[in-house]
Amino acid sequence: MADQITGGCKCGKVRYAGTPLDAAPFRCHCRDCQQLTGSGHTEMMPLAREGFAISETCRIYEMQGGSGQSTYSGFCPDCGAQLIRRSARMGDRVYVHAGSLDDPAQYAPERSIYSDAAQPWDAGSIIKAD
Ligand SMILES: [Zn+2]
Ligand SMILES: [Zn+2]
Repeated sequence: MADQITGGCKCGKVRYAGTPLDAAPFRCHCRDCQQLTGSGHTEMMPLAREGFAISETCRIYEMQGGSGQSTYSGFCPDCGAQLIRRSARMGDRVYVHAGSLDDPAQYAPERSIYSDAAQPWDAGSIIKAD
């Protein structure tokens, strides 16, 4: 596992750095992720909230997660690239979108979540449980 993860948005305004948590990186097929990305799913890398550093304040969109608690999507105010997710329920972590990593090859998704919500045209991307 990589010691340090760095990344940022398309335009370069927002940069972040953090360390991976001992938690599985995952692919999320939920409807929120579809609507927020305009695609079939997100690729989420969990980093430790402690020590997570970000160069600029992201614009934050708040929504209700599946648990009924607030979930926050952070994106660059200039280029709109989605960078982070946080949730009230999992306060010890910040999820970063894998495509925003400086080295996206550091990300290796281990499972799918909300695969029941996957669209037929994206079903091929579901990571099957063993
Ligand atoms: Zn940007
Ligand atoms: Zn999702």
